[in-house]
Amino acid sequence: MKFYLASGNAHKAREFQAMADAGALPVEVISAVAIGGMPPVAEDTGTFAGNARKKARALKERLPAGGWALADDSGLCVDVLNGAPGVESAYFAGPRASGAENLAKLVDVLRDVPEDRRAAHFVCVLVLVGPGGEEHVFEGRCDGKLRREPAGSGGFGYDPIFVPDGHTQSFAELDAAEKNRISHRALAWARLADWLRVRE
Ligand code: IMP
Repeated sequence: MKFYLASGNAHKAREFQAMADAGALPVEVISAVAIGGMPPVAEDTGTFAGNARKKARALKERLPAGGWALADDSGLCVDVLNGAPGVESAYFAGPRASGAENLAKLVDVLRDVPEDRRAAHFVCVLVLVGPGGEEHVFEGRCDGKLRREPAGSGGFGYDPIFVPDGHTQSFAELDAAEKNRISHRALAWARLADWLRVRE
């Protein structure tokens, strides 16, 4: 099966391919770049599932017959901020903010929040649109706590302050294999993989 990924990010396609290979799934993950790029999509639905669905549907229109469109949307939801930045995670510090700027803003906003009120979770929603337009939605969630100061140099985005439950190190300190075992993206993918195995 060919999954066309609704993202211009080649790293993401490789990450999902690695997950497919690790589970011995007969799936080839192809970046939208290989078929002329991702059509512009406003991520304005207010939900992870809505945004992922919009991206998957936009790409599906461009696919050769029989192709599957896969899209993901993810972000960090902070309890004390009523779930923010959530779907706005990539733009928390402004429309063109870098990952480092978003992280710095969150550290600052949470400076005076006490230890027992620093719970947060990452969410990833995957939407897969099949050849006939049928839609499948898979969600993964990873719970944790936010550190006061960033720690570690791995990963990206909010990783340096996110300590997953059951661990003492941040996502940026854990090795990539461990993050890829427990992350919201890995859990969403595991659900998709389970569905695919049952379907075959
Ligand atoms: P997108 O789903 O690739 O658009 O990611 C949205 C934003 O959520 C990213 O720009 C990051 O700010 C944040 N994010 C999503 N997943 C992670 C993660 O695994 N680590 C750190 N930040 C993440």
